[in-house]
Amino acid sequence: DKEGRIMNEKLLNNIRQVEPYTPGEQPQTKVIKLNTNENPYPPAPGVARAIAQMDVDRLRLYPDPTADSLVSALAENYGVEKDQVFVGVGSDDVLSMCFLTFFNSEKPVLFPDITYSFYDVWANLYRIPFERQPLDENFKIKKEDYYKENGGVIFPNPNAPTAIYEELEFVEDIIAHNQDVIVIVDEAYVDFAGRSALELIDKYDNLIVVQTFSKSRSMAGMRIGYAISNPVLIKYLNDAKYSFNSYTMNQTSLCYGVEAVKDKAYFEETVHKIVETREWAKGELRRLGFVFPDSKANFIFAMHPEYDARELFEALKAAGIYVRFWGSRRIEQYLRITIGTREEMETLFAFLTTYMNKGE
Ligand code: PMP
Repeated sequence: DKEGRIMNEKLLNNIRQVEPYTPGEQPQTKVIKLNTNENPYPPAPGVARAIAQMDVDRLRLYPDPTADSLVSALAENYGVEKDQVFVGVGSDDVLSMCFLTFFNSEKPVLFPDITYSFYDVWANLYRIPFERQPLDENFKIKKEDYYKENGGVIFPNPNAPTAIYEELEFVEDIIAHNQDVIVIVDEAYVDFAGRSALELIDKYDNLIVVQTFSKSRSMAGMRIGYAISNPVLIKYLNDAKYSFNSYTMNQTSLCYGVEAVKDKAYFEETVHKIVETREWAKGELRRLGFVFPDSKANFIFAMHPEYDARELFEALKAAGIYVRFWGSRRIEQYLRITIGTREEMETLFAFLTTYMNKGE
C-alpha cells in the first residue's frame, strides 16, 4: 500500500520470518565501551605492520577460497592437521554453518536457557526443532538435561552471558552421552577460562569446537572465527560453505588473521592482563554490593540488589560508559560488564562509587 506496507497475508506467509538477534550498541564516538565483550588492547603488532604494507592491488583478485594461509597458521598453532580446521567470517558465521550442516534431525537440538541468543535465531531460521534447557538457580548448566534423546547439542563454555566455565570433565560427560549426534562447544571465551575441549577432538567423533578472533585476539572488527574437529566433520562443513559462498574469507582478513595467530607472546600477555583486571574487578564489584556468578570470561554478569539495572545502565551511559543491559526475562536486573583496561575499569568504579555514595 501507499505507506510501503505489504497487506497480502499469503505473500507474507511465504517469507521466512525470525525474531532477529539484537546486538549491543556500537557507538561511533569515543566512549568507555564495555558492552560487547571486545578486547581493550590492540591486535598483535604484526597486524599493524601487515596493514601498513598491504598491497592494494591484491584486492583485484578473489581471495583463496580454501583460506589456506589462515587454516595452516591455525593448524600449526593448535597442533592439528589442516583438514581439521574450518574458518569463517566470525564464529557467528561458523556456528550458523554448523547449525545448517549438523542439525538435521526431527528431534530437538538442546541448548541452555539462558545462553547466546543467536542459537534461537539460527534454529528458527533453518527450521531446526530445538528445546531450551533451563539453567539451575545459580545459572549453571545441568548436564543431565543433555542426556535425553536429541538432535544435537550446543552450548558455550564459558556460557554467555553468565561467564560460568565448566571443567573439561563436565564438558566430556555431555559429549560422551551424545555420541550419535553432533555436540558443538562454543568456546568464544575459553582463552580467559581454562582447558579447551580441543583436547577431546581425537577421542570423540561427534565433537566440534568453535573459537573466535574477536575476544582473546582483539580482532572483532576483522570477523574471523574457526571450527576444529576431525577431518570428516570439517569436510561436511566445507562442502556446505563452498555451496553457499566459496569466497567466504576476504583477502585482508586472511592476511591479518595469520599475523594475529603468529604472535603467541602478545596473545598470552594481553589475555593475562585481562584476567588480572577481571580478578581485581570482582573485588571492586563486591565492595560496591554487586552479586555475580564467578566469571571465567572477559566479562562479568552482575546485579545489584538495591539498584535497578535499567537505571544503572542509563546512568552509566549518560556518563559515557556503555555496558550491556537486556531487560529480558529472568535477567532483567542484570548487567554484563566487559573487562576493559585497568584505567577504564577504574573510571567505571569511580563513577559507581560516587553514584552509590559508597565513598569514604
Ligand atoms: N559465541 C558466543 C558465546 C558469543 O558471545 C559471541 C560474541 N557475540 C560469538 C559466539 C560470536 O562472536 P564472533 O562472531 O565475533 O566470533
